[in-house]
Amino acid sequence: MKQKPIIIANWKMNKTNSEALFFVEILKQVPKVLGKANVILASSFTTLSDLNKALVHFNTEKQLLSLAAQNMHFEKSGAFTGEVSCKMIKEVGCKYVLAGHSERRKFCNESNALIQKKVKYALDNDVIPVLCIGESFEERKAKNSLKVIHTQLEECLAGLKASEVRQLIIAYEPVWAISTGGTAEHAMPLQIQEIHAFIRAFILEKYGKKIAQEITIIFGGSVNEHNVQSYLSLPDVQGALVGGASLDVDTFIRLLKNI
Ligand code: PEP
Repeated sequence: MKQKPIIIANWKMNKTNSEALFFVEILKQVPKVLGKANVILASSFTTLSDLNKALVHFNTEKQLLSLAAQNMHFEKSGAFTGEVSCKMIKEVGCKYVLAGHSERRKFCNESNALIQKKVKYALDNDVIPVLCIGESFEERKAKNSLKVIHTQLEECLAGLKASEVRQLIIAYEPVWAISTGGTAEHAMPLQIQEIHAFIRAFILEKYGKKIAQEITIIFGGSVNEHNVQSYLSLPDVQGALVGGASLDVDTFIRLLKNI
């Protein structure tokens, strides 16, 4: 039987503190729905402290809602104006951090080498990185998807021990499937399964069977209430990273109900 799926809501730069708190208060009213998945909210830095406080009593019996930062710096502290450290996100309750989202690769020029440093630093400090990888539309059109994903995995995981790789979450997020509104021709489940199997085969070859079986690989790319189950039912997909369909609380609850 499959483990409980991981659903990560990536709110990107969309919610103010009060909007994030409002969302969480509504979610707290539906614990049974939340119980269908391991739900993680990746919210902006300015919201994390208050969200953490809002969840303290709610999460006492079961961890129904967890927090992720959308980014962090790979140095411990220092003269990095505008950056946020791992210690800072941990102090406000983040168990997870996104690393290498395609928007940061594109708008902030994040390279695989830089992402590797973030992944390593997070693991060293007991924060679980959600490593985002995925090819662009042009790379896919040129039939280079597997090559690009192979390079991203090799470079982002460089130097990590098998025991470290075991802990992370890999999110396959093909850039061509993000923010499309979920049209079937953009992200056919069978294509997604093929790539997830490729990622697992990479892990198998490098880190062995046990790690390949245990590592969590999730899909992101216009996942919504209508298509979520078609992705989650694929053998190598253990969850979803959800952008657009996580912004409205009723829509997000319907997505969770459809698991
Ligand atoms: C994302 O950017 O992480 C994402 C999955 O977005 P969307 O669901 O809107 O495609």
